[in-house]
Amino acid sequence: MFKLSKSIGRLPIKCRNEQQGCTATFPLSEQYLHSSTCPFEWLLCPQQGCGTRTLRKEAQAHAQVCSYWKQLCPMGCGTLLNRTTQAEHNCYRELQERYEAQRQTQRTIASALRRKMQRMQSRMANMTQQISLICENLELRENLEEGEEEESPAEGTSTRRSFRDSQRPITCNSSSSSNS
Ligand SMILES: [Zn+2]
Ligand SMILES: [Zn+2]
Ligand SMILES: [Zn+2]
Repeated sequence: MFKLSKSIGRLPIKCRNEQQGCTATFPLSEQYLHSSTCPFEWLLCPQQGCGTRTLRKEAQAHAQVCSYWKQLCPMGCGTLLNRTTQAEHNCYRELQERYEAQRQTQRTIASALRRKMQRMQSRMANMTQQISLICENLELRENLEEGEEEESPAEGTSTRRSFRDSQRPITCNSSSSSNS
């Protein structure tokens, strides 16, 4: 039995890819070895979605033109490249461009912030001016009102007045003293 299988193994057979053009003959025991390297073996393109069948000897040529060919950038930038983008892809240049774009954005934000701050500062200066104007007006009115009150005969009757007296400038005091 062993002898028989051994002699069957030695039987010369033709390659199963004879129709595709392979003329090789080999012992049956070497069939697997041959078919794994036979240039006339049908192969399916390994690229996902392609589905093209080529002979092994043409697989290389197909890989060069397969439109489904994809590969992550070997530089590790994370870009998925195809035949078209691979030729144009320049990792260093793209990183530089991205960096430049980021810097540009930051510069724009910074200048916008600066403008906003300037606007706020001028608005604040305006407000300060207005407040000081209001203060001046109030003081003026107060002085006028006090001048009117000066005419009332009773002096020192209201605590409010005496409180004001203490805050009033000396010139006003002299007028009040002359009035009494
Ligand atoms: Zn073959
Ligand atoms: Zn393909
Ligand atoms: Zn890259």
